[in-house]
Amino acid sequence: MRVIVVGAGILGASAAYHLARAGAAVTIVDAAHEGRATAAGAGIICPWATGVEDPGFYALYAAGARYYPELVAGLEELGEREIGYARVGALCVGADEGALDAIEAVVRRRAEAAAGEISRLGASEARALFPPLRPGLGAVSVSGGARVDGRKMSASMLGAAERLGALRREGTAALEVAGGVVHGVRLGEERLAAERVVVTAGAWAPALLKPFGRHLAIAPQRGQIVHLRLPGRDTGTWPVVLPMSPHYLLAFADSRVVVGATREEAGFDYRVTAQGLAEVLGEALRVAPGLADATLLETRIGFRPVGPDHLPMLGGVPGVAGLVIGNGLGAAGLTIGPVAGRMLAELALGKAPEIDPAPFAPSWGEPGMGAGHPAPR
Ligand code: FAD
Repeated sequence: MRVIVVGAGILGASAAYHLARAGAAVTIVDAAHEGRATAAGAGIICPWATGVEDPGFYALYAAGARYYPELVAGLEELGEREIGYARVGALCVGADEGALDAIEAVVRRRAEAAAGEISRLGASEARALFPPLRPGLGAVSVSGGARVDGRKMSASMLGAAERLGALRREGTAALEVAGGVVHGVRLGEERLAAERVVVTAGAWAPALLKPFGRHLAIAPQRGQIVHLRLPGRDTGTWPVVLPMSPHYLLAFADSRVVVGATREEAGFDYRVTAQGLAEVLGEALRVAPGLADATLLETRIGFRPVGPDHLPMLGGVPGVAGLVIGNGLGAAGLTIGPVAGRMLAELALGKAPEIDPAPFAPSWGEPGMGAGHPAPR
């Protein structure tokens, strides 16, 4: 079966990889928009500490974290090397012991093998693991917490898909729909035919569907996120840090510490703003004053695709046979993307998904961002 995937962020990359693994003839089309979320995402994988209780959402979030080791093994088998995933553990930090008790209780209630060991650390133990931390912050440690470099992970899945025969094209695709059936996409003057099209176009997806009178309820949520360098420091094994706020810190191997992020309704305004930078750095230095002397490397901007209830949207489009959409991964897409992409591949191929897609039927109409439960970390 010929399948076209429109959009090669983490969700489209995963859909393409799983489709190619299942033997489909896959073509991936990507426009590489400025502000694509996957290229800006922080990369925290720690669903067990989320404040979101929606059972459908949480089940998918946790399944996303559980799926990573299997995914990484499959990619390595196919020869991928720079995958960008590391299980470095996560620390939920705070000065208020009562608040830490509450977080510990939530994490323990959700404990599963993938969460690893859950333990309580004193302030000096926490600082030994993440030295820039403010003195006096205790922690709940979740050893199964992980980090992922979204750019490397999606490049690995795309690379693996290509090794399995998938083709890649650059450009902005438009859908070809006639008689209630999708027939492929248009890329400039060219027509690419397919029996199925998977639209994983992130915050830009509504523009693809609008010509057919379908108003996908997705809006961009801008995130500004700052990359710092601590020259000479070996940050490769530092854990993810989750303070008692929507902000966070995590480290990568090249003396890099990433601190984020804003959550703004600013349309597709691709800019670093004074307020955004002040907010992100202010929160980071409050929690980790040891970063004060770090070098500011860059600020990335990403548009999270967000729906009305912050729920992922994974399913078909009413009245358009052969079309499958994946969207709405919001602030949790680097965790959920791989497992959700597998689900999209199953849906496109007419297989029964391993995870029930019923809670994730796409929403149509005005986006109305934030009407539902709070955004996950
Ligand atoms: P995108 O990555 O935006 O990809 C969509 C792609 O579609 C783009 O490449 C675009 O060019 C392409 N496209 C659009 N229209 C067309 C068209 N017509 N033709 C061809 N191509 C098209 N998640 C976590 O789990 N943990 C985190 O710590 C985390 N931190 C984050 C921090 C920030 C600052 C941000 C912005 C996000 C964060 N996320 C995190 C969320 C995660 O990054 C997103 O949910 C996820 O990357 C969304 O992936 P996507 O593939 O749906 O969209």
